[in-house]
Formats: sequence, structure tokens, C-alpha cells
Amino acid sequence: MGGESGEQEGGRTVARRPGLLARRRAWYGPAVAGAPREKEGTMSQRMVDQFLEMVRIDSESGNEARIMQYLLGAVREAGGEAALDAYGNLIGKFPERGCKGKAPLLLSCHGDTVKPGVGIEPVIKDGVVRSSGKTILGADDKAGIAEVLETMRTSQVRPPIEFAVSRQEEVGLHGVKNLDFSRLAARRGILMDNDTLDTIVIGGPSYFAIDVELTGRSAHAGMEPEKGINAIQAAAKAIAALELGRLDHQTTANVGVIEGGLIRNGVPDRTKFLAECRSADHEKGVALAARMAQTIREQGAANGATVKVEVNNLCRAVRIPEDSWTVKLAKRGLAEVGIDAKCVFITGFTDASIYNNQGIEMAVVGIGAQGEHTTAECVAIADMEKAVLALTAMLRFAAE
Ligand SMILES: [Zn+2]
Repeated sequence: MGGESGEQEGGRTVARRPGLLARRRAWYGPAVAGAPREKEGTMSQRMVDQFLEMVRIDSESGNEARIMQYLLGAVREAGGEAALDAYGNLIGKFPERGCKGKAPLLLSCHGDTVKPGVGIEPVIKDGVVRSSGKTILGADDKAGIAEVLETMRTSQVRPPIEFAVSRQEEVGLHGVKNLDFSRLAARRGILMDNDTLDTIVIGGPSYFAIDVELTGRSAHAGMEPEKGINAIQAAAKAIAALELGRLDHQTTANVGVIEGGLIRNGVPDRTKFLAECRSADHEKGVALAARMAQTIREQGAANGATVKVEVNNLCRAVRIPEDSWTVKLAKRGLAEVGIDAKCVFITGFTDASIYNNQGIEMAVVGIGAQGEHTTAECVAIADMEKAVLALTAMLRFAAE
């Protein structure tokens, strides 16, 4: 598969986009003494081969050890050095090139994928990489990683670069929350984890995870139901009393998982459910989470159950200004490849929320992927090339 894709992509790059590599050389500026010279067609082929290699390494959230081991080698191969922190996140550094005394810039991605992500078999057709259809592709976020590594190999003018690859992003930003921030000096950065190239994510909501456990009393459903306390019914009443969905233009609430009961003919004594709420306004989110917890407690108690509610504020709403240095840098870089990127505030969240909470100003730039978190996920190689060119331009501007 690797050989086939390499030939196909090498030929396509030269045949269909003759101006691309020439323009790319022009953007890199004059060759720096001692820097490796690029051969035509090598960028696309090498990046795609590495991307395919990475998506074949299973790394569903919680199972990132192999991809992190691979990346330790890949960072060294791309001219940097890297180590894992105590949580298993990768933190790397690449030396500055063609400039001196500039502040470091952080580039970041995540190394885990959503499910189904085991045994991914990438297929290339008409310049687009897809999965075989049975799994996701894992372009989210391995296309981003491949783009960063290619940019590190080829960029000729850049400040010192710090590179963080988090674990367990997809299941609640656990990796970045446990990241060893003492190893990072950068105060600004670019997270390569948005899908399309034409938007820059400048913020996300406060997020509250609400874990609920109701305990009733088991009893035979036919012989002595009056001795039981039905935990499923108590949970149902609690959920029915919650206001769910879009509550206002900034705020949403949901119950996504419920489980309980073992047998049809027994009064169930235990039920768990998982709820969440999010708001672009942090205080509103705090108040809503408290209200939801209160309603659940009241309803559970009214129906005889003991209720345990755990509320976790997993991230705090952030919005970086559209005229901030980081957003302007991202816009300028994307403009270099002809993209007039729009700033968006998303109701999902990325590692950028935590970086911003930690005082590192972080904008989220696209990697060119589409259909993320589905088995139709795909990425066009031409868009990966564009992302590399845009990122290369951002680094050059950061070195000004
Ligand atoms: Zn992602």
C-alpha cells in the first residue's frame, strides 16, 4: 500500500500542481547554509507515507503507548528531540532556523483517535485518503502530526519550536490536563486540530460532566414489589425533570448514557447516568450545572432513592480576541495559500481550551480533514500540502 500510494502521489503532485513546489521554495526564502535541499515531489510523498504509517498504528484513547514510541523516533528524524512526560504525553523541541532570539512557539496535536480505530487500513483514491470504511481514518489528528513533522523538516525560517502531542484528548482532554507545563516555555501557539482550513477556532465553552448514581432497593418484581425502590424509575423521573437540548444561544444540556438493572423480574436497585452541560458563558454554565444537580437530587429523593451526583468542570470557556497575535499569525499564514479564514467559536472543545486556561494563547488551525469521528473521515493530500505551506508561512512570520 505504501509503495503504491507513493508513486501515485509523486506523479500527481508534479502533473497537476506544477507551481506548488516552486512557490514553496520561494516562501522558504533563501536556502540556509547546511539545510537539507528538497527534491521535487519528496514533500508530498514523504508526508503521506508517514501519515499512512501513523494511521496504521492503533491508538484509540487510552492506548497511545505505541504511537508515542513511534513519535519519539519521528521527532528525532525530523531534527528535534522529544521525551514523554509522567502522563505519557510527548513534548518535543526543534531548534530555531534562520533567525535568532525569538520567543518559542508551541505547536500541538493529539495522538489518540476515537472508535472504531483498530486495524485502520487507509486507501488512497483520486488524491484523497480514506479508511476502508470499517473504521475511522484517524486523520484527526494524525494528519496534523504529519503536517507538523513535514513542516519541521522543511521550514527554513522559524523561531524555536515546542511540540506537544497529548493523549486522551477525545475522551475529555485528560492528556493536556495532566501535561507537564513546566517543560513548556512558549506563551503562544497553534493547535493543529481543526478540520477544514477555512476556519480558525478562537474559543470554546465551559464544560461540565455530571455523573449520577441512584441507589434504591432490590426486590422480587412479582412477589414483593412493595419492598423495592426502583432506581430506574427514580432516574427516569430525574431525567424527565431536566431541561435538555439548546437552552439559549450560549448554552446546551444533555443526558447521553443511562445504564441500570440486571433482570426483567427484579426491582432494580442501581442506575447510573451521564449528563453534561456547556456554555460560552462560564458563570451561566456553573449555575446550570448546580441547578441540574439539585433537580436530580430532589427527584431521586422524592422517589426514595439515594443519589450521588458528581459535577466536574472539565474546562473553562475561553475566547481569544480576533486581533490577537496568534489569530493574526494564523490568518496571515492561511492567506499565503489563498485562504481567507474566518474565526469561529465552537461549542465543542479542544486542547486549546486548556492551553488558554493555562495562559498559553492558542488558536486552532485546520488540518484539511473532513467527516471526523465517522467512518467516512477523509483527507485530501492537496489540503495536507496546503496546511504545511500555511504553517510554514506562519512560522516564518513568527520569526519576523
Ligand atoms: Zn482532534
